[in-house]
Amino acid sequence: QARQSGGGAWSYFTRTMSEDVQSRVSMLHSLRAAIDFKRGLSLAYQPLVNARSGKLVGAEALLRWRNDFGESVSPQRFIPLAERTGLINELGLWVIETALDRLARWRAQGLSDMVMSINVSSVQFRADDFAAQVKRLIDLCDVPAVAVTLEITESIALEDHAHVMEQIAELRRFGVSFAIDDFGTGFSSLSQIALLPADQLKIDRAFVDKVCNSAADHSLAATVVMLAQGRNLGMVAEGVETEEQKDALLALGCEKMQGYLFGRPMSAEQFDAWVRERRPAST
Ligand code: C2E
Ligand code: MG
Ligand code: MG
Ligand code: MG
Repeated sequence: QARQSGGGAWSYFTRTMSEDVQSRVSMLHSLRAAIDFKRGLSLAYQPLVNARSGKLVGAEALLRWRNDFGESVSPQRFIPLAERTGLINELGLWVIETALDRLARWRAQGLSDMVMSINVSSVQFRADDFAAQVKRLIDLCDVPAVAVTLEITESIALEDHAHVMEQIAELRRFGVSFAIDDFGTGFSSLSQIALLPADQLKIDRAFVDKVCNSAADHSLAATVVMLAQGRNLGMVAEGVETEEQKDALLALGCEKMQGYLFGRPMSAEQFDAWVRERRPAST
């Protein structure tokens, strides 16, 4: 009896394991094709607003992939795969070029102060010419470097330090800003954070969620805000969904926000409509 159920468990295990490997191989295969033929890839743009003035500050570009079956695959699933297989380099440059091209159009259409935030994986910094490539694309798309923010995560602290720092410094000299994404959720110590060159912290949704909770939770969120203020960094709160969260963040001194309360990630066309709807009739 025991042997039988053990055998059953084993065959179940091997079957699911091979299905898993198989699905990763086929996902890799179709991601490779998507990148080669620019098929099924697109960017969604989520507005970043100053919640005090109500003004649009910029947008974050978020990668979307619809696979051959028409299913949309979460970036949380395919980005790590792209990172492990090196596909992230080519994919990442496509994201940057597409987002900067969109930024150039928006700025030409009257959104002249608009800033574009682009997520970059720490793996992309391993390429020797990453900084040079970004500079090339900024020139190619004819946007000011100061209108470009690259979002990195705390995991970048684990990469080859000297090389990564050099590339970040080169891009910052060029005018590009850096934001630390998902701030507070990573594994790096506070001392490492203090060493990371950045202009902005993006306070993770986990803390935004807490801002209206118990006093202890609220003070945790307040501490994260104070950390940013202490380092004289800009701040953006991510994942703001309710008016209560917005008010609590404003009271803490965080004005820039992003989240479903203001707008979901959307296509460029939907973004244009969103801007038109919000703009007062006078302009
Ligand atoms: P992220 O950069 O922290 O992006 C914010 C995520 O939160 C997005 O998920 C966005 O859709 C979601 N979000 C925004 N507002 C709200 C809200 O009010 N409530 C909730 N519940 N969620 C909200 P998404 O688009 O699925 O992206 C997930 C992650 O994938 C991103 O997190 C980023 O780390 C990564 N990613 C996306 N695009 C790229 C890319 O082009 N390159 C790289 N390297 N990573 C990317
Ligand atoms: Mg981000
Ligand atoms: Mg984030
Ligand atoms: Mg994230």
